[in-house]
Amino acid sequence: MFNKFLNILFPASCPLCQKPSTKHKTAPICPDCWDAVRPYSGAICKRCGAPLVSEASLTCGECLKDEPAFTYARCFGLHDGALKKAINLFKFHGIKRLSKPLSEKIFHMELPQADMVLPVPLYKKRLRERGFNQSALLGKNLAKRLEIPLNLSSLVRNRDTRPQVGLSAKERKKNIRNAFEIKEQDVIKGRRVLLIDDVFTTGATARECSKVLKKAGAQEVFVVTLSHGVLD
Ligand SMILES: [Zn+2]
Ligand SMILES: [Zn+2]
Repeated sequence: MFNKFLNILFPASCPLCQKPSTKHKTAPICPDCWDAVRPYSGAICKRCGAPLVSEASLTCGECLKDEPAFTYARCFGLHDGALKKAINLFKFHGIKRLSKPLSEKIFHMELPQADMVLPVPLYKKRLRERGFNQSALLGKNLAKRLEIPLNLSSLVRNRDTRPQVGLSAKERKKNIRNAFEIKEQDVIKGRRVLLIDDVFTTGATARECSKVLKKAGAQEVFVVTLSHGVLD
C-alpha cells in the first residue's frame, strides 16, 4: 500500500533515461537529467533573444523588420531534452511541483530591475479547463524570490485563441492580434514590467502583450521565458 502510494508520488522511472526518480522536487525527472539542464549560452538576437546561427549579426531579421515593443526578451534554455519534458509535464499533465524548480532556473538568470512580475494571462475558459495558468505559477514563485509584486489583474486575454502550436509565424501573429487588453492602466503607467511566459517560439504572444503594455504607458517591458522553442 505504502509502496503504491510512493509510486504515485514518484513514478518508478525517469521519462528520459528510465533511471529511478529519486528527487521529489523534480520527479519524475531524475536528478541526473535535471542537472543536465543548462542555460543556452550561444549567440542570440540582442533584442528578442532568438538563438542565432551566426555570431556576426546582433539583431535578427524579424526584429529589424518589425521592431518589438519590449526592451528585450530572454530565454533560459532551448526547448529540448529534460527542460522540454519538465515544461510539458507541468503544463499538460498538471505536475505543479515542477513550477518551483523551473522558476528557480529563471531566478538565476541575469534579470533586469523591474517593478512587477506579470505572467501572460490565459483566457478564462482555458483557465477553467486547465485549472491553472502555468505562467502565473512560474510568476508567483519568481515574484516571491525577487520580492516584487505579482500582477495577475492588469492584463487580460479578452478572447479565446487557437493554440499557437502547429501554426506558422504569420498565422501566430494573426491568431494573437488584439487578444489582450489592459484593465488597470494606472498600475502599469510608468512601471517596469517583467513579463513571464513558459515558451517563446516566434514571440508573437510576447510581442502582442508588450505592445498593449507599452500603449498603457509601461516604462519598459522585459520578457523572460523558460525555453526557446522552434516552429514544428
Ligand atoms: Zn533521467
Ligand atoms: Zn530578434
